[in-house]
Order: sequence, then C-alpha cells, then structure tokens
Amino acid sequence: MRQTTGTAIAAAGRTKEIIRRHGFTFKKSLGQNFLIDSNILDKIIAAAGLDETRGALEIGPGIGALTERLAQTAGRVVALEIDQRLLPILEDVLSPYGNVSVIHADILKADLQRLWEESFAGLAGVSVVANLPYYVTTPIVMKLLEERLPVEHIVVMVQKEVAERMAARPGGKEYGSLSIAVQYYCEPEVIASVPSGAFIPAPNVDSAVIRLTKRREPAVAVPDEARFFRVVHAAFAQRRKTIANNLSAISGKERKAELAELLTANGIQPERRAETLSLAEFARIDEALAKAGMKG
Ligand code: SAM
Repeated sequence: MRQTTGTAIAAAGRTKEIIRRHGFTFKKSLGQNFLIDSNILDKIIAAAGLDETRGALEIGPGIGALTERLAQTAGRVVALEIDQRLLPILEDVLSPYGNVSVIHADILKADLQRLWEESFAGLAGVSVVANLPYYVTTPIVMKLLEERLPVEHIVVMVQKEVAERMAARPGGKEYGSLSIAVQYYCEPEVIASVPSGAFIPAPNVDSAVIRLTKRREPAVAVPDEARFFRVVHAAFAQRRKTIANNLSAISGKERKAELAELLTANGIQPERRAETLSLAEFARIDEALAKAGMKG
C-alpha cells in the first residue's frame, strides 16, 4: 500500500461526515449503496491482484470508498461516475491521490476502447473493480465482455443471486444463458458473501463479490458468436421444455423430427433440458444446426 491519509473514506463515521458536509442525498434509481466495510474492501482489493504496474477501471465510485483503496494499490485508476453531484465530492476526498481520474460518464455509453488507449497504455494489465449499481449489472458486465477489452480480472460486487447465476455449473436452476455468456469469456469465482449491513443505505438484497478472470481464448470455439448465443437463448426460452421443443423455434416446427435426429446423432438426448447442457455441448449443437442449415 502506497499512501494513507487518515481515516478511510469507507469508515462509517467518515462516510456519514462526507455525506453531511456535502449535503448529499442518495438516489435509489442510480443504485447508490455505498460500502462501509473495510474487510470487504480488503477482499476486493486482494482479489483484483493489482500493483503499481497495473491499472484499474472503476464503475460508479460513489464518494470514493473503493477508489481510495484502488489509488493506494494500483499505478493508475480511472473511475466513471454518472451522477454529476458526486464529482465535486470525489475531487475533494481524492485530492491526496495523483494517480486517479474521475470522468463524468455513463458506463453503458462510454467509448471504452478509446479510454483504454488514452488512459491505460503501457501498463502491465488492467482490471475492472467495482461495486456495481444493481439495476444495470448484467448490461455492464456484458458490455465489458463483448467489447473484448484487454481486461485481466473483473472483480465486482453484485446481487448475490446474480453472482450465483454467473458462477453456476450445469444441473441447477441458477444455470442459464447468463452463466454461459460469462463462462464463455471468463473463469468465475465467488470471493465473498456480503450482508446488506456493509452498505449505507442497506440494500434490500444480499450481495456477493465475484471475480471473473478473463480467458485468453473463449472456452469453446464457435464460428459465429452471435448465432451461438441465439441458440443458447432459444434453448432456455422455456426452461421446463425439452431442448428439442425449445430449439424447434429455430429449426421450424416442420423439421422437429429431423432436429431430434440431429441432436441424437451428436450425442445429445433430445429430451434433455437446456440447464443440463455444458458449454461444449451447446457449441456442438450450434455447429450441428449450422451444418444442417437451421438458421439460428
Ligand atoms: N463505489 C461506491 C462504493 O462502493 O461505495 C459506490 C457504489 S454504488 C453501489 C454504485 C455507483 O454507480 C453510484 O455512485 C452510482 O451513482 C453509479 N452509477 C449508477 N449508474 C451508473 C452508470 N450507468 N454509469 C456510471 N456510474 C453509475
């Protein structure tokens, strides 16, 4: 740790003092729940594997509880915050740290490729580290993955149920298209469960920290990603239905018998449900459908 400046922003008393001094009021619609638990911050920082040669992108710095810890650990920190009212507060509380830039932006609209080029060139690696606003968790994570940014780890606080879905293995009710999308790009690992008392104000759901370690190459090779994910979505369209029933939406109802034969020929029982299928099996199904000219 490089630099410390008195009481941490995350200490409950300091957080309350900052909020009072700046007359800040929370906006529930922006998912504003600020972390006040330094043990959880320790776990997030440890999981991100940062050092002075590495950078961190934070999404939603709030009043800077996590930003401060990132600034003390990483070589360079860029934080994107949508709420203009937080900018003067961040400027104030983060003034001791010369390696942090706060940008007023909506992460979903930001040009991240450009941000990478402008802010992180020459670093040994960059990780995304954030306590995410829960109303947009999935679009944010999918944007980070689909834009194929050179990210080492994505270490994020999310709703516990979302963490379980991201990390789920085949066979359970949590396993679905989010698990497949995340695991196609990353190795997931749930780092910690976080009670609602770790935040001000306390959210009405439990939370968890998950680390997604970006794979060098996707977990399976597929010729057309967009098509592969359409097949996955179709397979899960109605979870209680068999894979053959759900996929007949792709093949056309009139080719359902042919579809069942095709699945069997590729070692997949047509009566199985999507939640039992591994990524490799989905890739096999996608390839077979493509070869048979079923459009996906
Ligand atoms: N990092 C702080 C902490 O841990 O205490 C605050 C986390 S709070 C759960 C989420 C933060 O994301 C808020 O500061 C909120 O204003 C910000 N936010 C919400 N939507 C956003 C968006 N689309 N782009 C960037 N920031 C956003």
